[in-house]
Amino acid sequence: MLRKNCSKCGKELDGKHPSLCKECAAKSAREWYEKHKNDPGRKERRAKYAKDYYERFPTEYWNDKVASRRRNRRLELRAKIYQLLGNKCALCSFADKRILEIDHIAGGGKQEIKTFRNKSWNSYLKYVLDSIKNREEKYRLLCPNCNKLEAWKRKHS
Ligand SMILES: [Zn+2]
Ligand SMILES: [Zn+2]
Repeated sequence: MLRKNCSKCGKELDGKHPSLCKECAAKSAREWYEKHKNDPGRKERRAKYAKDYYERFPTEYWNDKVASRRRNRRLELRAKIYQLLGNKCALCSFADKRILEIDHIAGGGKQEIKTFRNKSWNSYLKYVLDSIKNREEKYRLLCPNCNKLEAWKRKHS
């Protein structure tokens, strides 16, 4: 027979635990941890478990994992930046995010990117995102056309 109520508090089951509700499951996990956190050798066993787990997969697997996590983070940061900048070209409202570019309103983009040369691209995106959140108004989105046109104007003015 399938048990449908929490064996501790009688509440209807709402989590993954087969016999406890979410609340009681979390509470019993907490109690277990408090009781056992100082067991001799627990840390070592955990470390060994983690090491064994790590060694079950080849290095490439972990490299891939790190790469994909980094990629997801990059896409996430980019999406947030684009959203805050309106998801469209600041000059002509062109809105295809695939080719919109982040423009430094006052110029100096190349210099700025240089200072991040030894850091990750993600840390640069994070820096841009923070600047936008702080309303520093340093960036805008431009479509490739407007970006080129602006560059032309700067050069010929
Ligand atoms: Zn419960
Ligand atoms: Zn444009």
